[in-house]
Amino acid sequence: MTFLLGRLAALLLGLALGGLLGRWMDGFWPLLQGWGAWGGAALGVVLMSARDSWRGHRIMEWLRSGQSAGAPRSHDAWGELAYRIEKAQLQRDRLAADERRKLGEFLSAIEASPNGVLLLDGSDHIVWCNSVAAEHFGLDPERDLGQRVTNLVRSPAFVTYLQAPSPDEPIAVVNAQADLTLSVLLRPYGEGQKLVLTQDVTERLRAESMRRDFVANVSHEIRTPLTVLAGFVETLANLPLNQAERQRVLALMSQQTGRMQALVADLLTLAQLEGSPRPQADHWLSLLELLQQVETQTRGLSNGRHTLLFPEPNTLAGIQVAGHRGELLSAFSNLTSNAVRYTPEGGRIEVGCSLLSVGELEFQVSDSGLGIERQHLPRLTERFYRVDGSRSRETGGTGLGLSIVKHVLQRHGAHLDIESEPGKGSQFRILLPGMRVRRGETTRTQAPSMPV
Ligand code: ADP
Repeated sequence: MTFLLGRLAALLLGLALGGLLGRWMDGFWPLLQGWGAWGGAALGVVLMSARDSWRGHRIMEWLRSGQSAGAPRSHDAWGELAYRIEKAQLQRDRLAADERRKLGEFLSAIEASPNGVLLLDGSDHIVWCNSVAAEHFGLDPERDLGQRVTNLVRSPAFVTYLQAPSPDEPIAVVNAQADLTLSVLLRPYGEGQKLVLTQDVTERLRAESMRRDFVANVSHEIRTPLTVLAGFVETLANLPLNQAERQRVLALMSQQTGRMQALVADLLTLAQLEGSPRPQADHWLSLLELLQQVETQTRGLSNGRHTLLFPEPNTLAGIQVAGHRGELLSAFSNLTSNAVRYTPEGGRIEVGCSLLSVGELEFQVSDSGLGIERQHLPRLTERFYRVDGSRSRETGGTGLGLSIVKHVLQRHGAHLDIESEPGKGSQFRILLPGMRVRRGETTRTQAPSMPV
């Protein structure tokens, strides 16, 4: 209203001033013949309109130019108009910047999520996805924006799920290329848009499957000796056996009981290894003492059936290793007992121990036994994995020995190397890291020993 009144006042002022001036000029200029007042008034109005048009034009140009420069200044209503437009625009820009910052923060938060987030429009075109979702589905978060998701993710389970009218349960989708199993949950929002949440469940499913296999294996391992024992109990109860037959049955029963005891002992060892903290790296043990214990156990097991070679004690004098006595003893003697059990009578077993130039300690057991075919080598440390099942059981094996070795070594930062050739023999090598080996110290601490 003030703007309109101002314009009207300016016109009237132009009219009045022009009229007065024209009238005054009438007195000097007879040629005007009394029209000076009218002409002056008209000229005043035209000038005022021209001035208004010019000011309006400057503001229009400024608006058209994208307001890169400041608004045109003047001390009239046009100046105020330009100032108000400029102020409104500044406010709008500030608000937009604030919204952009909030949106940026929100997207960064979603980006930081360990789960995948994918936004689809009403026709299943990708609106946005975080890098986790991109990795899960093998998408490019920039290049694939605007693409229809079903052209890129072709899993039939996923495509059907997207088309379901009201999906409420997550589904499993396999990305075979990336070797991933995903749990995918879809939530509709807005006007037909969809929020797709993904979670990598590969490890969880693998662990569940391993747990199922483990329970099945343990049950199987226990069921066999239990069935045999039940048979013998029935025999003893129902048949009139003489003393010799009775002794034979009891010996077989004791063998089966021993088998179950060995299995339970190994299972407990594995459970202890998984549940206890890592052995300290400053708990020093004499290597010589450890190897002497290993030698005693190995000679006892071989009972003179093999040629056994152990390192000369003076080559080990002063060497210490840091770790858990019972665990290291268990790892070393598992390898030597395997060598004894899988090497036929008369074979040769050699145990070596040396400090490598890089500071590592190498403990190796070589045998001239049955050997192992190449394809089995990567799986030997899996629980219950056996190459020669019957020999393993005959010799009191549980299928858990190398699995225990692997756990012990992992806990000590060490690792196991296996080389073998069928018919020629095997070599198992433990490499203990330099930080767990030292030479020349005389003090030592004793770790509580673990049953082996
Ligand atoms: P097991 O109690 O059956 O010996 P392990 O985990 O100690 O279980 O060993 C896994 C399998 O690896 C064994 O069943 C055996 O087939 C094979 N194996 C281990 N050590 C040797 C070896 N020195 N020579 C030949 N085969 C071996």
